[in-house]
Amino acid sequence: MKRLIYADNAATTQLDRDAFEAMQPFLLNEYGNASQPYAFARTAKKALREARETIAECIGAVPEEIFFTSGGTESDNWAIKGSAFFDTEKRETITSQIEHHAVLHACEDIERMGYPVTYLPADSCGTVHAEELSERITSNTRLVSIMTANNEIGTIQDISSLARVSHNAGAVFHTDAVQALGHIKIDANSLGVDMLSASAHKFNGPKGIGFLYIKKGTPIRSFISGGSQEHGMRAGTENVASVVGMAAALQKNTLMQAETSSYMYSLEERLLGILHSGNLNFIRNGDEKHLPGNISLSFYGRDGEAILHRLDLMGICVSTGSACDSQNTRISHVLHAIGLDEKYAKGTIRISLSRANTTEDVDIIADSLLKILR
Ligand code: PLP
Repeated sequence: MKRLIYADNAATTQLDRDAFEAMQPFLLNEYGNASQPYAFARTAKKALREARETIAECIGAVPEEIFFTSGGTESDNWAIKGSAFFDTEKRETITSQIEHHAVLHACEDIERMGYPVTYLPADSCGTVHAEELSERITSNTRLVSIMTANNEIGTIQDISSLARVSHNAGAVFHTDAVQALGHIKIDANSLGVDMLSASAHKFNGPKGIGFLYIKKGTPIRSFISGGSQEHGMRAGTENVASVVGMAAALQKNTLMQAETSSYMYSLEERLLGILHSGNLNFIRNGDEKHLPGNISLSFYGRDGEAILHRLDLMGICVSTGSACDSQNTRISHVLHAIGLDEKYAKGTIRISLSRANTTEDVDIIADSLLKILR
């Protein structure tokens, strides 16, 4: 049988075995509702508390600032809508043109309710500049939401500067760190962010679980109404097994982060080296400061969709842009925002590697691309 080469880790990652093993007891035997007062629920409650502590420690927060959600999409919606619905005079939100749809569509929702939204441009490398934010921000700006790193092209933003500009103007700062957490060093405190979205399945945790970091004192309303879980801020019976898996995966990724990222950068170099030797007309998108292993390539005059399907037949999984857009043959909003020439943009694929990929995988991916494109 043909070996599968999975190189779409920005779409999702494989569940880490240690995380899986940590989850198992809570799927079978320790099924007590963590909010119940009897002895049988104690193990679940303790696991939830310890997971919150572990996650807080990994991001430089305190446990009371971690609120479990169903993933990145919910965290982003909560930050944007929960801020807008908080009783305040300030009505404007500022975000960027290159955010994930979880942010962009949440912003469109509040726009329809009468809250104005400004969409900042990005430069050709995908960087959103603090100077641009300085020029646009006003005393009416309530929230600024800029992603830590872009899912399609990997560009890492200067979050500290963007947060500083926001605070100087009296606005709250949120960052969608869904692609970044577990892959680059993130310390919520030293970054100076008020809210941060995360999703476990992007760092070898289970799917359907994430969290929103909310710095103490940040003005925000609860978004999912119901019971009093998560300090009364996010209702719903706690997903204990997934929370435990998320904490185990984040802890492991955080411990291995420096080693993993230098390995990723070496794999990137190897892949690009082979492609460059093939005299293809292509560009690599994004900035020098990019997520380790996130490689967006645009091949002039080619069709990214066709490349994806040819690679698929060879047992290689990549993406054309954002996974959520895989049915969509239009040029993605990110490539459009960075002003990429249409002839290149249409021939774009995203290869996203993980620590599970080998140098052999990279050689096979590069050789297969050369075969397809020559
Ligand atoms: N934000 C970014 C930057 C993402 O890449 C994604 C997923 O691709 C999301 C948010 C949505 O996260 P989730 O899949 O956990 O809902």
